[in-house]
Amino acid sequence: MSPFSSEKRKNPFQYCQGIDKSLTALMRKIGAAADRNGLQAFLIGGLVRDIFLARDLDLWDIDIVIDSDSASFARALARQFDAKVVIYKAFYTASLFVTRGRRIDLSTFRAETYARPGALPQVRKGDFLQDVQRRDFTINALAIALNKKCFGALIDPGQGYADLKQKRIRVFHDKSFCDDPTRILRAVRFEQRLNFRIERHTLQLLKAALKKRKETRVKAPRYFAEFKKILMEEDPLKPLRRLSHLGGLTFIHDPLQLDIRFIRKVYNHRALTGRWKGLVQPEQRWLFYFLAILKGMPERQVRAIVSRFQLSNEEKKAVLQSAGFSATVAYLNNIQLRPHQVYARLEQLTPVTVLFVRMATRRAVVIRHLERYLDQYRHVKLKVDGNDLKQMGIAAGPKIGVILKELLYEKIDHGLKRRSEEMKAVRKIMEGGKGL
Ligand code: ATP
Repeated sequence: MSPFSSEKRKNPFQYCQGIDKSLTALMRKIGAAADRNGLQAFLIGGLVRDIFLARDLDLWDIDIVIDSDSASFARALARQFDAKVVIYKAFYTASLFVTRGRRIDLSTFRAETYARPGALPQVRKGDFLQDVQRRDFTINALAIALNKKCFGALIDPGQGYADLKQKRIRVFHDKSFCDDPTRILRAVRFEQRLNFRIERHTLQLLKAALKKRKETRVKAPRYFAEFKKILMEEDPLKPLRRLSHLGGLTFIHDPLQLDIRFIRKVYNHRALTGRWKGLVQPEQRWLFYFLAILKGMPERQVRAIVSRFQLSNEEKKAVLQSAGFSATVAYLNNIQLRPHQVYARLEQLTPVTVLFVRMATRRAVVIRHLERYLDQYRHVKLKVDGNDLKQMGIAAGPKIGVILKELLYEKIDHGLKRRSEEMKAVRKIMEGGKGL
């Protein structure tokens, strides 16, 4: 069946308001290049969905499919755009890194088969229809033709356009969630992000897949990577609540009781928007919601979860430290603590953990210590350094580090302002033999 037999619609690039002009120009160039190479090229996937929904476009994420070898076409485009190209031969895909940070993923029409449920698909060359039907949902399978003679025509064999209009998430076939259970999470994510509904039959299939615990067939880190995308959504509360109602959080721990009020508190907390927001990267924000989900779990369980999902070292550290929340709060809940004691305790924690404890505690004394640490103590820097100490006759070696640490604690407690005051304090530390 020719892909062009579907109803052609108005040129979406013209028809969608607010569409980025440079995107249209780029698509025309790719279409012209496809013409020169005798290929058919289509824009497909999430970007097409968002064009029709007139949403903000994620121009990092441009997916193009072609009817022939994507590697040689990618190389031709790389020469034309002076872009970097990376070829993934085994997957029939290539990525082009063009100006303004745009990445274009090019792939040959593919067909997929699943050796067993949850396994990574086996990929082979296919035709346009197979490439459409291997996708997760009909709304993510709309394609726009890029070749000059049909530029802008919508190709929609899965009736995804009607689903977009009806605000429906629909799978292509009944085995979809068994083949790839990560689609369970994707369905909920798109449903809640777009304010759609998972269509009735699709919802039945999704619930059946959850009931049969199909998600356990997927490697845990891969399933978690898709879950992380939920936590990275602009509003992760809605999909989390929906997933929880569907019983879709048991892959973390069974049973898992979601404290949605607490997660909302974390979501709205000024620590993530106010004066400390620079302490964590925006891409680490998801971690706070994960910590909120795990809050109250025994450390042993948290340890098991962390190792199953293969978090990065920094993430692991934040999660495990936050599992020690009660001990940190108990230590800080002491009005007598000297500033350097607060500093020494909190300096061992990741910034994410410190902020999380600040969000999660209501104890005034603890909050006071935490805020002083965040606003004052952690900014204290010494004016003298190891070289100054060597000039004072202290031999190079670990002793220097010990003295500098003592000095820093002294400065945090007593606010030494001048360099001469720091030198004096060093002499006092040496006389007292403290830390030596
Ligand atoms: P987002 O807006 O969150 O980036 P997206 O639709 O662009 O969403 P991607 O994860 O970037 O999603 O995937 C690009 C396209 O690849 C999807 O639109 C879909 O067509 C296809 N796809 C992605 N994941 C799957 C999957 N698990 N099963 C089938 N098709 C998938």
